[in-house]
Amino acid sequence: MTVVDVRTTAETAFLDAVGSTLPGLRLLTDPLDRESYRRDETAYLTSGLPLAVALPTSTAEVAALLRLATEHRIPVVPRGAGSGLSGGAAGVEGALTIAFTAMDRILAIDHADLVAVVQPGILNAAFKAAVAAEGLFYAPDPASYEICSIGGNIGTNAGGLCCVKYGQTRDSVLGLEVVLADGTILRTGGRNVKDVAGYALTALFVGSQGTLGLVTEATLRLRPAPPPRATLIAFFPTLASAGDAVRAIGEAGVAPVTLELMDKPTIEAVDDWHHLGLDRTAAAMLLVESDVAPAAAIDELDRAAAACERAGASSVVRAADATEADWLRQGRRLALRALERLGTVRMEDVGVPRGRVTALLEAIDEIARRHGVRIATFGHAGDGNLHPNFVFERDDPRAEALTEAARADLFRAAIALGGTITAEHGIGTSRRSALVDQVGPDAIRVMRSIKAALDPLGILNPGKVL
Ligand SMILES: Cc1cc2nc3c(=O)[nH]c(=O)nc-3n(C[C@H](O)[C@H](O)[C@H](O)COP(=O)(O)OP(=O)(O)OC[C@H]3O[C@@H](n4cnc5c(N)ncnc54)[C@H](O)[C@@H]3O)c2cc1C
Repeated sequence: MTVVDVRTTAETAFLDAVGSTLPGLRLLTDPLDRESYRRDETAYLTSGLPLAVALPTSTAEVAALLRLATEHRIPVVPRGAGSGLSGGAAGVEGALTIAFTAMDRILAIDHADLVAVVQPGILNAAFKAAVAAEGLFYAPDPASYEICSIGGNIGTNAGGLCCVKYGQTRDSVLGLEVVLADGTILRTGGRNVKDVAGYALTALFVGSQGTLGLVTEATLRLRPAPPPRATLIAFFPTLASAGDAVRAIGEAGVAPVTLELMDKPTIEAVDDWHHLGLDRTAAAMLLVESDVAPAAAIDELDRAAAACERAGASSVVRAADATEADWLRQGRRLALRALERLGTVRMEDVGVPRGRVTALLEAIDEIARRHGVRIATFGHAGDGNLHPNFVFERDDPRAEALTEAARADLFRAAIALGGTITAEHGIGTSRRSALVDQVGPDAIRVMRSIKAALDPLGILNPGKVL
């Protein structure tokens, strides 16, 4: 089949200008190539075919592209590895997608300052491995760490499996190089652990999903490598008892590095795939890890185990060794993929204050029953962040309508519990209409003012977030 491209005069002039200004730039214009940049991991959301896809190798190229985009009024979509779960990197019809895959170098690892300087395209796992080889640790740890980039993590303020102890991506970003819509190259922050000079611009760009500027370099906070982890899993007869254990672990003053939850449908899906010998009769399980020195880790897990038992755990099991612990953690990381073996999955990302996990679990259960939908829930329970997944037969024509109705109730429930409609995946396009319900019209007005100040023509990732 031949695809006929119909371009506007402005689009043609823009592509010509890119070609003549940056003759060495890798620019994909073939429709089939562009098609593979249409979506992120949210295949069910509406997306557009990019006009072209640029794969720059330097900040100078990114700045030149944005100057031309401003001049020709062409929208720009920044893209990392495309693993996002809110449509943030999804294509926009007639827009230039700038994919950072080829800007993936580590520019410095500094043991004295405990920082690294990286380009945005490096994958989280590759970066983690490089600093680990030098006896250091980069904390942010999304379950997708093998397939997501640092730039995308900054774009979404990614969370993951050890936020409960080390915070979200924002807590590990000390400085940024950002290219603004008009091509200005801005530096924010730096290597200082403490820095209160003016407004917190670094924090503002983290999580802005490419709507305020394009990150071309990041200075990231490192830590000395912690000891190997000690791991336990606890099984519970009810969802409420698992939620109560999350609260009890916090109240006991235990600070685990990982506190993850999987409900029964997730346990079964993970176990069907990986045969980990999980208790399939349980309503939920918690995965608890400690990364303090071995003697202290035994004490930390003893206290976590006691808290689980007080909350009503049916069994508490310690991982026999590091390999078993790795399998359990990997099983949790692959929970989404395990559910995807059952059908089409639409994943949500609500959060509540940690003490209200039980109430959120009960609300999810009630919503599933009321709407007659199958929901499998797992998530970062220690952060109060749960991922209810709507699971449908492939090609179920009711999937969209049922999801929309159920997730409207889910958002309402999270907000009523003092929580959030998205804890780590971002608003993107998928949750845009619900944002005002959480933050209110005044906050939306302030956000719009910031957007207008940084991107007056509205060319950066239009239709995302606001
Ligand atoms: C199996 C699976 C598990 C996951 N687990 C987690 C998890 O535990 N925690 C979590 O937080 N997320 C998780 N995610 C979601 C996703 O991996 C994260 O949101 C991740 O941060 C996206 O990174 P990416 O490189 O794929 O970015 P993309 O999806 O390409 O982009 C994400 C956003 O960042 C913007 N962006 C990308 N690069 C730049 C840049 N250089 N400058 C400015 N903006 C930019 C994009 O425009 C987009 O809005 C998971 C996804 C999958 C598929």
